[in-house]
Amino acid sequence: MAEKLFYALPELPYGYKDLEPYISEEQLKIHHTKHHQAYVDGANALLNKFDDTRAKGEDFDIKATAKELSFHVGGFLLHKLFWGNIGPADKCGGEPTGTLAEYIKKDFGSFERFRKEFSQATISVEGSGWAALTLCRGTDRLFIMQIEKHNVNVIPNFRILMVLDVWEHTYYLDYKNVRPDFVEAFWNIVNWDEVNKRVELWLNTGI
Ligand code: MN
Repeated sequence: MAEKLFYALPELPYGYKDLEPYISEEQLKIHHTKHHQAYVDGANALLNKFDDTRAKGEDFDIKATAKELSFHVGGFLLHKLFWGNIGPADKCGGEPTGTLAEYIKKDFGSFERFRKEFSQATISVEGSGWAALTLCRGTDRLFIMQIEKHNVNVIPNFRILMVLDVWEHTYYLDYKNVRPDFVEAFWNIVNWDEVNKRVELWLNTGI
């Protein structure tokens, strides 16, 4: 049966060189075209497997498959969010404004405090993972999630506003093993306008 493409690699909203000197062209290109692509391929393979196995009336290992699905689809979605919440340093970095700035002040006390907590959450991810700034619609509060791999520690229904990838494949060519230096560099390329748009979107959708 022909492979169906359910997921596709999104194009980056900037060029591979545009995040320099914080993320090199080589590092960004490999990350996007090899690593992100691998999750696209993994997710597509699993969905094809569901269809093929059902069509044949056969069983599959639902426990193993559900775990793989959450890993690959989680990886696909988090990378897509990540590319959107970073951008060229001449248009990004600094501090947030608007609704996001108000929420950060309300929940963390100050931007500096938020930045410190988010950096700590990111640096201390055990192994490979992410930090994510999220909005809980139930309590109307911001919350920092520390995600292991692409899918562990994720809290259902918390809306993701901003993510930072600290798998080694994100920074190893540029920063070797020094994850804290990459996390520090990240603050120069945060696209706060985009993160603010995500807060307003979630607040306006009312779900
Ligand atoms: Mn990655």
